[in-house]
Amino acid sequence: MSQESKRETEQETERAQGKRQLLSVVVSVYNEEQALDDFYRETGAVLKELSWDYELIFVNDGSADQSLSILDRLAADDPQVKVISFSRNFGHEAAMIAGLDYSRGDGVVCMDADLQHPPECLRDITKALSEGYQVINMVRTKNQDAGLIKNLTSAGFYWLINAISDVHFEPNASDFFAVDRQVAQVLKESYRERVRFLRGYVQNVGFKKTSLFYEARPRVAGQSKYSLKKLLAFSINTILCFSNMPLKLGIYAGMFSALLGVAVMVYTLFTRAGAPSGYATIVVLICFMFAMLFVIVGIIGEYIAILFTELKDRPVYIVAETRNVKKEQ
Ligand code: UDP
Ligand code: MG
Repeated sequence: MSQESKRETEQETERAQGKRQLLSVVVSVYNEEQALDDFYRETGAVLKELSWDYELIFVNDGSADQSLSILDRLAADDPQVKVISFSRNFGHEAAMIAGLDYSRGDGVVCMDADLQHPPECLRDITKALSEGYQVINMVRTKNQDAGLIKNLTSAGFYWLINAISDVHFEPNASDFFAVDRQVAQVLKESYRERVRFLRGYVQNVGFKKTSLFYEARPRVAGQSKYSLKKLLAFSINTILCFSNMPLKLGIYAGMFSALLGVAVMVYTLFTRAGAPSGYATIVVLICFMFAMLFVIVGIIGEYIAILFTELKDRPVYIVAETRNVKKEQ
């Protein structure tokens, strides 16, 4: 038995006796070749100081660059680095879910690979976990990378989703959060929807909760992997997943047009508008009604699309290969 695996077995025995605790850090990686080495160095330094044992679970979300070979190298040098590599790009959410699935820790932290989530926060996170908090929301106070437009649209999105859904979303909550073993288990077992928003579930599972604040740093290297199109699709999906309000639009729109119809009827009766002079009214009404109808049909279509995706029950992610991951996990 090598020195390292001996040490690992010793730590495992101590953990079984409740003397030590394990922190699983889940990192989603998509084309992050420029950021990975810095991330590993900085985060590793912080993790080594902690009184907790740790495992760094990198989930390679189908990167097309050298990310996987960098992760291979890190995993070969450090047994605490685990790698799960997807067969293609499945998205950030799927990567976080895979990380949760493979994690074994008493606490699980999800963070980005671009160092926008400062590794120093891990100290406060383990402190809060040790104090018995089960869900730790990391709230962003400032995002140095985001421009005015991104900040405004993000604020608008949270306002809308909070107004129309019955669950509450913390504005500025990010994909940086920590949960304990029990909550991780709940997330793993009960939230396996195909169209999903992990951040939303984390905030709404209940349990003993706290928020910690952090200042998002600029991306260490590379570019944001979220295009405006991806963000828009993501926002629409979230609204549809967490709210039935859009479906009710049909009822409201129907009531509105009924009122409008009564008004037009009263107007016609009083002015005794003859057949030729009603042309404009008819055109306007037809255009308006059809526009409304198509919007509502479109909304229903979106919900059916989600039902269809759920029904097909395709896997959330497909793992192609792993490193340093034991079989039974
Ligand atoms: N990411 C991923 N799959 C994707 C897109 C992004 O795993 O399809 C990862 C990415 O590598 C990063 C994190 O998700 O670690 C957040 O992405 P990014 O920094 O591009 O988003 P932003 O911080 O700009 O919102
Ligand atoms: Mg980022």
